[in-house]
Amino acid sequence: MIKTLISNIDELNIDKEEIKKHADLLAKGKTVIFPTETVYGLGANALDEEAVKKIYEAKGRPSDNPLIVHIYNENEINSLATDISEQAKKLMDEFWPGPLTMIFKKKDIVPQRTSGGLDTVAIRMPSHPIAREIIRQSGVPIAAPSANISGRPSPTKGEHVCEEMNGRVSGIIVGGDCDFGLESTVIDMTSEKPMILRPGSITKEQIEVLIGEVLIDPSIEGKADIKKAKAPGMKYTHYSPNGDVYIVSGDEENVINKINSLIEKQEANNLKCGVICKNKNIDKYKGQVIGLGNNLEEVGSNLFNSLIEMDKKNIDVIYSEAFSNTGVGRAIMNRLMKSAGYKVIEV
Ligand code: AMP
Ligand code: MG
Repeated sequence: MIKTLISNIDELNIDKEEIKKHADLLAKGKTVIFPTETVYGLGANALDEEAVKKIYEAKGRPSDNPLIVHIYNENEINSLATDISEQAKKLMDEFWPGPLTMIFKKKDIVPQRTSGGLDTVAIRMPSHPIAREIIRQSGVPIAAPSANISGRPSPTKGEHVCEEMNGRVSGIIVGGDCDFGLESTVIDMTSEKPMILRPGSITKEQIEVLIGEVLIDPSIEGKADIKKAKAPGMKYTHYSPNGDVYIVSGDEENVINKINSLIEKQEANNLKCGVICKNKNIDKYKGQVIGLGNNLEEVGSNLFNSLIEMDKKNIDVIYSEAFSNTGVGRAIMNRLMKSAGYKVIEV
């Protein structure tokens, strides 16, 4: 067990002195969890191999799964990466600070442990005021994957982070709920035509308006072997609650009837069932129902949280409605498919 310093910080009225205690931990090579606009991140000095090793240990993360390096201002990119294209600059101007991660050729200063042995590095400039302040005060780029045990849903609420990670890291800053609730969009800028390796809340469509056509790694949409995914993290089982997740897809009325009849059967076998769905359908289901929201943005921000809540209720089987596979929906369906182990019931 590591002794964990836990601080509550109001993102609208930041206590810089309190953040300094955590920034000092980072500067000393320790690990600190802090909120970002996507999910909570588990940070350490990205340039310090020993510090980065602690991230992998705290998460139980496979060592070939590279980390995203978080920076405070755009200029820092020049010390970490080379071959920054005009297209990348356009994306930075538009989306940084914010939930877009870009992959570049790395400079030697970035240790292999941070890049998972690759010769590229993933970089993002977050917009959350607490994330920005702790990176600024630490004075170093911060490697920060999601603050969950590897394989579990990523935490978007401070209380969930404390429950899972207290004793595994040196500091935790609790700072409210994360806005987007899904991890950043990851785009590889090293190829002539950039390729999205992980969908997120910044969509393919938004990116294409600025830089023209981009590709999507076929393996993340189930069109090719997931083991060939270009972002090493995409090939692992991920976002899995303890309950078994199924996606039920098709005409809405059929979906509702199918889920209710499946629940009847499961309950006859003494299994506890849960449903995650659009808010408008909450009253139509049996079992423990969690409404994810009224639109795709809300669904994205509540998805991981709902899976963690289902675990707290000891739900054995979770049925989810399917969501439209466009815009932010692409990121939602990607995470949902992974948490379901690609089990889809078509009706
Ligand atoms: P997380 O840190 O948990 O948000 O996950 C970061 C994601 O970005 C994982 O899917 C990684 O495999 C991916 N990633 C990070 N760095 C690289 C890189 N250099 N090349 C390809 N994918 C990367
Ligand atoms: Mg993660």
